[in-house]
Amino acid sequence: MKFGGSTVGTTAALAQLASIVLTERERWDRLVLVVSALDGITDQLIEAAQFAQLSQRRGYRRIAATLRARHLALIEHLIKPAERASLLPSIDSLLYDMLDICQMMSDNPLSTRQDSLDAIIGVGERLSARIIAALLRQSGLRSVAIDTTDLIITDDVYGNATPNMALTRRNIETQIVPMLERGILPVVTGFIGATSSGNPTTLGRGGSDYTASIVGVCMKADEVWIWTDVDGMMSADPLDIPQARNIPQLSYDEAAELACFGARILHARMIGLLRERRVPVRVCNIYLPQSSGTLIRELPSAQAARHLQAVALISGIALTRNQNGSLASVSALVDEVFFATTGSHAEIVIAAQGPHTSLACYIVPTTASPNAVHELHLALADRIRDTTELADWQARTVGIVTVVGAGLERSHELGAKILLALDGLRILGAAYSPSRCGMSVIVEMRDAEIALQRLHDLIIEDSSPAQ
Ligand code: ASP
Ligand code: MG
Repeated sequence: MKFGGSTVGTTAALAQLASIVLTERERWDRLVLVVSALDGITDQLIEAAQFAQLSQRRGYRRIAATLRARHLALIEHLIKPAERASLLPSIDSLLYDMLDICQMMSDNPLSTRQDSLDAIIGVGERLSARIIAALLRQSGLRSVAIDTTDLIITDDVYGNATPNMALTRRNIETQIVPMLERGILPVVTGFIGATSSGNPTTLGRGGSDYTASIVGVCMKADEVWIWTDVDGMMSADPLDIPQARNIPQLSYDEAAELACFGARILHARMIGLLRERRVPVRVCNIYLPQSSGTLIRELPSAQAARHLQAVALISGIALTRNQNGSLASVSALVDEVFFATTGSHAEIVIAAQGPHTSLACYIVPTTASPNAVHELHLALADRIRDTTELADWQARTVGIVTVVGAGLERSHELGAKILLALDGLRILGAAYSPSRCGMSVIVEMRDAEIALQRLHDLIIEDSSPAQ
């Protein structure tokens, strides 16, 4: 079971977490928890690392003091003195280590090692795992906090690492499985790992979901549960569309499509691993533990939804040229800039070449930092200016609105309805996804919200029973 930032960020949420774990422990005797940092903490840690790189000592010290105060306040409320006595020194020691790394960076900003950044931004998960393990111990469970730096072995793409599954499986089999056999409940840090030589790495923003799928697959779990504070996967992001509603069931393909095209509730790379092993995923609301949330699993085509399930919006970067221009020549250069800026290779959503215009539209992964679109845009604009092969290309940010539903595969009428719903808006490109359960439409940024709303209205209309 993975508990995300919003489910561990307050005393009320943590009390809910403890009650869920106690209930589920009755049903499952082999249970592993994967936890995120408290809400907002990773953002603050990234800011601290930025201050350190700018040698602004007061900036990162202020953040460390705020982090300490927030974690201590939670401990005050939730943890009794017996557990508190050993917990407080471990919290302080993590924060001192973090300050040491910041100090090193600040003294020598030009020789900053990339793993120092990951060491700093992974501190949030180490803090929360310790607090949650202490909370569960005082509720009578034999719970231990585990740092995944000793468990999840990754490549050295700092900020967006990928696990080596063979090495990680061996570690989980030798370290976690024996704990389960002894009745221990491990509370594992999400988001973080380390290279085989021990340098700290992170798995991309929202990476705790990915950790849950890695651990779930390696321990041969029956199910992976993602606890959040909304009713499972929704037909749209409820922050954008208040009428969004719960989706009871999704196929792996539909869920992967949504995660990749902007539904931040799941990490884009987690579904692939689980699909390979047919491990079902439940996405549940901690405040409504009895409701069924969303179940993601292999759906035989007879059971797949015949209608549209959800719509997601994500920013992308479009490169256009008002003359015929070879896309092949730009793609390698664009990929280089993407990788340097986000740690991910450029994923192309659509590429089209006509006699007078060329368009290539790339997605900016949800696992990149929230500033990534802006940073990429600037980096590409610089590259275009400095590279002769890119003369006359323009880069701009665009909205990619994706409607997902296995029904799209069966009926072209649904695809036609999507385009009709966007009537009057300028469509820069549109494509069926190769999994055939999604359709992405590229629109100007200024039209993105209206496109989202119209497509959500279509989803509601399409799924209501005919009059
Ligand atoms: N704490 C990390 C983040 O904010 C990982 C996660 O929450 O899944 O991105
Ligand atoms: Mg998340």
